[in-house]
Amino acid sequence: MRDTTKHQGLRNQLANVLKAKGISDENVLNAIRKIPRHLLIDSSFESHAYQDKAFPIAAEQTISHPFTVAFQSQTLEVVPGEKVLEIGTGSGYQTAVLLELKAEVYSIERQHELFKKTSMFLPKLGYKPKRFIFGDGYKGLPEQAPFDKIIVTAGAPYVPKPLLAQVKVGGKLLIPVGDKEQVMTLFIRRSPLEFEKHELGDFKFVPMLEKKN
Ligand code: SAH
Repeated sequence: MRDTTKHQGLRNQLANVLKAKGISDENVLNAIRKIPRHLLIDSSFESHAYQDKAFPIAAEQTISHPFTVAFQSQTLEVVPGEKVLEIGTGSGYQTAVLLELKAEVYSIERQHELFKKTSMFLPKLGYKPKRFIFGDGYKGLPEQAPFDKIIVTAGAPYVPKPLLAQVKVGGKLLIPVGDKEQVMTLFIRRSPLEFEKHELGDFKFVPMLEKKN
C-alpha cells in the first residue's frame, strides 16, 4: 500500500470532522492530518480508513475511533519531551499520535501477535517509541516509572493501583473505566497521596485483558 495525495485529502477531511466534534488542539489535528492510518489496518478496510470508525486489527482487537484517539491525546495535554506510558499498543495509531506530539513513549501490548506486528512495522513509518513492551498493562512499567502521563486504550474493569502509583506528581492517568461501556476517567496527581478525578463521558473499548496465559 502507498500513501497518496488522495489519502492526504481524506485525512484533511477527517481532521475537519474531528474539529466539528470538538477537537481543538492543533497539534493533535496536525498529527491526524499526517499519520497514514490506512497503512495500519487490514487492506480490506482501506476505503474506510479515514472515516471516524473503529476496525478489527489482529487477535480480535480493534483500532480505536479517530475521535477517541484525538480526544484522549488532547486530554493528556502532552508537552514535548514528556515521558508517556501507553497501555494497549494495538495497531500503533495512538502511539504514532503521541510520537507526533513529541512524547517519549513506552507502549505495552498483551497480545504477542500485535506486539510483534506493530513493533516491526511502526518504526518503518518513522514512528519510534523508546520501547515496545510485550507485557501486562495492569502492572504498568515500574522500572521506568514515574511517568508524566499514562494513557490506557482498553476498557479497564477497575483502576489498577500500580498505574496510579507510577504517575508523577502533577501528572495524569487517563483511563476508560467500566465493563461493557466505559467512562473516560482522568486522574491528576496533586500530591503523593491526592488525586483529582474527572469523568469525561462514555466510550466503548475492547476489554483490558486480565490473567492472560
Ligand atoms: N491504541 C490502539 C487500541 C487498540 S485496542 C489502537 O488505536 O490501535 C486495545 C489494545 O489493548 C489491544 O491491542 C489489546 O490487545 C491491548 N490490551 C488489552 N489488555 C491489555 C493489557 N492487560 N495490557 C496491555 N495491553 C492490553
